[in-house]
Amino acid sequence: MYFTQGLHRAVQQHPDRIAVRFGDRQRTFRDFTDRVARLAGTLQKLGMQAGDRVAMLSLNSDRYLEYQMAVPWGGGVLNPCNIRWSAAEILYSLNDSGSIILLVDSTFMPLVEQFRRDATTLRAVVYCGDGDAPAGMLPYEDLLHGAPPVPDAVRRGEDLAGIFYTGGTTGFPKGVMLSHTNLCSSGLALRSEGLATPGGTYLHAAPMFHLADIGISMPHWIEGNTHSIIPLFNPEAALDALERDRVTHTLLVPTMIQMLVDHPAMKKPRDLAAFKGIAYGASPISEAVIERAMAALPGVDFTQAYGMTELSPLATINPPWYHKPEARKLGKLRSAGRASHCTEVRIVDPSGEEVPRGTVGEVIVRGPNVMQGYWNKPDLTAAALRDGWMHTGDGAWMDEDGFIFVADRLKDMIITGGENVYSAEVENAIAQHSAVAACAVIGIPSEEWGEAVHAVVVRKPQQEVEREALIAHCKALIAGYKCPRSVAFVDALPLSGTGKVLKTRLREPYWQGRERAVA
Ligand code: ATP
Ligand code: MG
Repeated sequence: MYFTQGLHRAVQQHPDRIAVRFGDRQRTFRDFTDRVARLAGTLQKLGMQAGDRVAMLSLNSDRYLEYQMAVPWGGGVLNPCNIRWSAAEILYSLNDSGSIILLVDSTFMPLVEQFRRDATTLRAVVYCGDGDAPAGMLPYEDLLHGAPPVPDAVRRGEDLAGIFYTGGTTGFPKGVMLSHTNLCSSGLALRSEGLATPGGTYLHAAPMFHLADIGISMPHWIEGNTHSIIPLFNPEAALDALERDRVTHTLLVPTMIQMLVDHPAMKKPRDLAAFKGIAYGASPISEAVIERAMAALPGVDFTQAYGMTELSPLATINPPWYHKPEARKLGKLRSAGRASHCTEVRIVDPSGEEVPRGTVGEVIVRGPNVMQGYWNKPDLTAAALRDGWMHTGDGAWMDEDGFIFVADRLKDMIITGGENVYSAEVENAIAQHSAVAACAVIGIPSEEWGEAVHAVVVRKPQQEVEREALIAHCKALIAGYKCPRSVAFVDALPLSGTGKVLKTRLREPYWQGRERAVA
């Protein structure tokens, strides 16, 4: 198995079908593949040899997809950089991965000089933005036109395909080594879930550096479908692309779904008749938000995926059926679903024993999608990979039917008065209040309880709710000890580059260097 296999199949079967649409540009699979083969040749000319890392720092674009295919095609290893990283973090990833070439778009021009100076392994910087290349930078289109296409190097199986940095939600990002088999097994598992229908169009609305988008788009490569791309998510751009490109499927993380359904642009009448499915995941979603989304997009199927970069990224999947009103009595709406094809999922206690169904423990996962390890981090690898099982650090419980319900990251779990409180349950209760747009629950220090449950809440525009009313609302839904003892109202939650709430940042002012018991 190798990463570019879907592209080879697509160009064989539908050379004249549109492969990519980005703004005014569109290309057939024949053109796209020719450009990929030329870019692979260009990268080889610039020194890329088998196993060499090539970095990309760019907003979403058609060239991002060319990079994704050309690096493995030419025998290299992908290193996509998180666009929300600071200059220091990007530099860390360039040096940590030992990238020899960097492709960069206009957004990040002010940082290039520093990278040239301080990224010790970097040999070439290619400008992949639009317009003329700034002085001293290699222009993407000229390089492509000057290079002959090269054959696919067909690195495969256990060969390294990419180093993908984790979201950095809980600490400094870790480089995850994924092989061709890792990525393909996850892609095939997703394809078996009906996430890509033949002749469809996938919208890259989530950031393309993140493995969630790469993973969910894999079945569309295998299917030979069209890829529509917006540079950066915002509700209007996403809705415009959905309509204009007759998009059938997309991936949205929960914060994007919440922004979309609460946005005035949703009210404008549009022809979204082609739109069939949204895959969502990457962080917990509240029932209230998913209900609002299903009501706003009644013809669209919703599929929840749970996974992590270390799992290429898929572990479990909750298909559309369990989201339907007829299936609501089964109580699976909030579930992340069951083990995907090829994976085994268990919920265990700290000694590694499986816990009884219904009890929260750590999710562990085994299968061909489990990473090779963390790049340059043997200690972290040994801690995470034990007997072939990936220890996710996520707390969840499993029901009698094998559905898992993610409760919390174990690091975010709150221990208050000796009781464990899992933030997803509390957030879900708070989010059911009609004035709440978004919320996050954290543990803050308490003399009396060890930790106290604290809620950080964003209210919907022009909506009021006070602390006491919100706590009373929670008390009607969940046990008293789980209810927030304090509430802070904010305009927005701090989010990571992949739209996840940065709870470490929310906790910081309360803990000020003090150690949390669960961390
Ligand atoms: P870091 O590891 O650097 O702290 P991160 O864990 O956010 O960052 P990713 O690999 O992008 O990096 O995210 C994986 C995590 O996202 C999972 O471990 C889990 O906590 C969360 N997650 C993914 N899917 C879901 C889901 N469907 N429901 C709840 N949480 C999810
Ligand atoms: Mg993680």
